[in-house]
Amino acid sequence: MRRPVLAANWKMHKTVAESVAFARDFLPRVKDADAVDVILAPPATALSRLGEELAGSAVGLSAQNVHAAEKGAFTGEVAVGMLADVGCKYAIVGHSERRTLFGETSAQVSEKAAALLAGGLLPIVCVGESLEEREADRTLEVIARQVRESLADVPDERGPDVIVAYEPIWAIGTGRTATPEIAQEVHAALRGNLAERFGDAAERIRIQYGGSVKPDNVADLMAQPDIDGALVGGASLEPESFARIVHFEREGGSQ
Ligand code: PEP
Repeated sequence: MRRPVLAANWKMHKTVAESVAFARDFLPRVKDADAVDVILAPPATALSRLGEELAGSAVGLSAQNVHAAEKGAFTGEVAVGMLADVGCKYAIVGHSERRTLFGETSAQVSEKAAALLAGGLLPIVCVGESLEEREADRTLEVIARQVRESLADVPDERGPDVIVAYEPIWAIGTGRTATPEIAQEVHAALRGNLAERFGDAAERIRIQYGGSVKPDNVADLMAQPDIDGALVGGASLEPESFARIVHFEREGGSQ
């Protein structure tokens, strides 16, 4: 049984004060959500202060990116140890915005994932196909390659410590969600890819879906056998909306 994991990716939104205000509104709403893991990924500037606000709660803190090196001349970058220092338990790596806007490669994502694990943090490794790739019927091939390359440096025995997020690029921030059936098809294939790499341990790896997840579609997505959570952008910016996603079992699905 995989424990559901719901993560908020705030991207480049929220000041420190706005992050704190969110936490104060949000934490009471999810204090009884003890059967799921809940994660907030604010911008880097708010990590430290939000970490203080989350201390003592079950909500985990995540960065949105990291550098694989321990330290050094990497202007603008932040190391794993620095994230641990401010209370991070997770970091998102390989988000499609980082891949497409900042040229991040799967090889870099793999180095980051391994560095996070070595430093005691858990990576949330994002993969996903573009609209062009989907229309060319290349989705499963693209995902298989991204999974293989993005997890290449992860030690064999650490597979279950990785969270994978399947985020079709055409569904991110577009309001166009993959149907639960489409998402499940990819998640099942993705789990097969993970099994090739990690064997039976693939059954313990959590795979989140991301792409226009909202309170009104989360229950149907979460009802799919291989969907173990959600990585949420837009609908995670309001405490009420993200709390409803965390309590997805209370949201009526159509099934
Ligand atoms: C994301 O950025 O990871 C994401 C899924 O965004 P949205 O929920 O807004 O589509």
